Amino acid sequence: MATRTDHSPATDAGQGRAPYRRFNALLIANRGEIACRIMRTARRMGLRTVVVYSEADRDAAHVREADEAVLIGPPPARDSYLAIDRIIEAARASGAQAVHPGYGFLSESAEFATACIKAGLVFVGPTTDMIAAMGSKARAKALMAEAGVPLVPGYHGEAQDEATLSGAAREIGYPVLIKASAGGGGRGMRIVREAAELAAAVTSAKREALSAFGDDHVLIEKYVENPRHIEVQVIGDTHGNLVSLFERECTLQRRHQKVIEEAPSATLDAAQRAAIGAAARRAAGAVGYVGAGTVEFVSDDRDFYFIEMNTRLQVEHPVTEMVTGVDLVEWQLRVAFGEKLPLAQEAIVLNGHAIEARVYAEDPARGFMPSVGRIARWQPPREEAGRVRVDTGFDAGDQVPPYYDAMLAKLIVWGEDRGAALARLQAALAEFEVGGVTTNLSFLAALMGHPAVVANAIDTGLIERELSALTPPQGALTGLEVGAAIAGILRDEARALDSRERQSPWLTGWLVAGARRRAFGLRDPHGHEQTAVLRHGRDGMQLIQGETRTPLAFRDSDGAELDLFLGGHKFRVAVTRDGRRLAVRTRDGHFQVTWLDPFGGEHDSEAGSGQIVAPLPGTVVAILVEVGDRLDKGAPILTLEAMKMEHTLRAPAVGVVRHLTCAVGDFVQEGGELADFEASEGGAEEGGDG
Ligand code: ADP
Repeated sequence: MATRTDHSPATDAGQGRAPYRRFNALLIANRGEIACRIMRTARRMGLRTVVVYSEADRDAAHVREADEAVLIGPPPARDSYLAIDRIIEAARASGAQAVHPGYGFLSESAEFATACIKAGLVFVGPTTDMIAAMGSKARAKALMAEAGVPLVPGYHGEAQDEATLSGAAREIGYPVLIKASAGGGGRGMRIVREAAELAAAVTSAKREALSAFGDDHVLIEKYVENPRHIEVQVIGDTHGNLVSLFERECTLQRRHQKVIEEAPSATLDAAQRAAIGAAARRAAGAVGYVGAGTVEFVSDDRDFYFIEMNTRLQVEHPVTEMVTGVDLVEWQLRVAFGEKLPLAQEAIVLNGHAIEARVYAEDPARGFMPSVGRIARWQPPREEAGRVRVDTGFDAGDQVPPYYDAMLAKLIVWGEDRGAALARLQAALAEFEVGGVTTNLSFLAALMGHPAVVANAIDTGLIERELSALTPPQGALTGLEVGAAIAGILRDEARALDSRERQSPWLTGWLVAGARRRAFGLRDPHGHEQTAVLRHGRDGMQLIQGETRTPLAFRDSDGAELDLFLGGHKFRVAVTRDGRRLAVRTRDGHFQVTWLDPFGGEHDSEAGSGQIVAPLPGTVVAILVEVGDRLDKGAPILTLEAMKMEHTLRAPAVGVVRHLTCAVGDFVQEGGELADFEASEGGAEEGGDG
């Protein structure tokens, strides 16, 4: 075990009393999958579990699973999951003696850690000093430079004036990356390729940083083109022991947010693995680190450079658990009890390969726009100890609220080697069924089947570059997809008949018409509509699409799955319906289809509309135009912040903004009107105004 000589047992921010001690009731200041995951281990260790929740989460899984749950406020995070006083009060009210912050929210807040300790609670994490030292990317970089950890060239000084920043950027050399010093989750980060773009990017990065972290300091780094992201899990105890648990490759990202994580990195050889592990221990050792943490590096395939240290459990910690057999939450709790780490460095061995895929409620084809609403169907793959693991905080019937992150689940698989893990991941993704909200499941399957991913020839820009290949335009649904959707509709009608629900409105379209032919209008997630005709004859059904006629039959089984026969070919498909929304799964992936009103009332109300509406519930954070402004098609109109991301709404055509019906700071519901936009006819008219 690496033993530190420069470090005495951690104290509570200078108050001379070790803050770590045995406890038997734990409050988890978080929600969703991570709250559930921490509870699993805490319960196994005999702890009483307490969670906090907002009004949006009354029925959420973490509330259902906890021994006790305390309501702490309204849905917005700043009034609930970020409200330090209310969480401390909840700990008091529930008799919890310790607090686990999870990740996100207050997990890296030195103020929160201090408040816990002041209230006599054990904070399951490092000391306040360590959080503060690493919490600012700028301060951390200064520390790392001293400790001899390799850094990306950059500016991380105090001065924030335009002249200093632009001078620094020039010296570093474009392209540069602006980062929020207090940042996390890719927020407040902007790539700037030319000097002319710097000022605008700094302004917008600062605005996002201020709203997300309450601190608008930025730093500038050399932008390493197409790097890999490799990070090392570390954990230290209060007895001077500090170990690393190998690395994770988190290179597959979109908008600087990880999508897929693997352990180990297939890129490193044994010598590189040893070197990056040692650098991470040096980085953590520089602050005498206690608790679980992650040291992050970017790599240009030859060298690696420190970018930051996260002083908490990471989203992707399960891949490390899968390849080391260590339960990191258990180790966190043991360290918080004041115990020694259970294993020495040499006893931590690497076994096989693990991959995690983050399943989000979002639409990759629409710029990863989050999807909110009710999960009508939820059927994750079956878990298999040590092989397939699903960490989630959702179940069928749950709402995906608009206030928080849109991650639905983490799917983690293990294999003897990377190839075996990839194959197992694909099988598990194909099994995963979600209905009611749009998910990235098909995207994940396409990504993990991409030749560059299979060959590990990846970099952080891969997803962006390959986006069109990864989200193929579903201009026309394939015959298999149409057949599956229609079979699903007929199956549901037949089931309704069987159960004698003769009142079901879904039956009338078929029966009243008495039709031998029935048309089905279907719309894919990208808005393309198509009609297929089903002909019902003495010899069975035929699906007519344009010139092709294919015999169609299906055999129902329990649940969502059915056997679909198209011609002589049998397919296994799955269809679930929530009103007119169908979630369909075929061998080609998952997709959502809207069944256009069977009674013929469907109109495309968007066409020709002059209103700019909110595509999802969110807060207006910037208005970028004035009434009367003439805009080119695609010009930005305003920025909406929803589900932790900024979304810029743009002019749908050349035209003029006639009215603004919102103000900065407004919270708008999905479909809420934001502005009136008048397209100019023909697009290019100038109109000769004076
Ligand atoms: P955050 O704390 O917001 O997650 P990080 O500093 O951890 O920000 O960086 C997130 C991601 O951004 C990294 O994984 C990497 O893909 C990319 N990145 C960070 N720094 C650089 C850099 N200097 N050059 C290129 N890419 C970078």
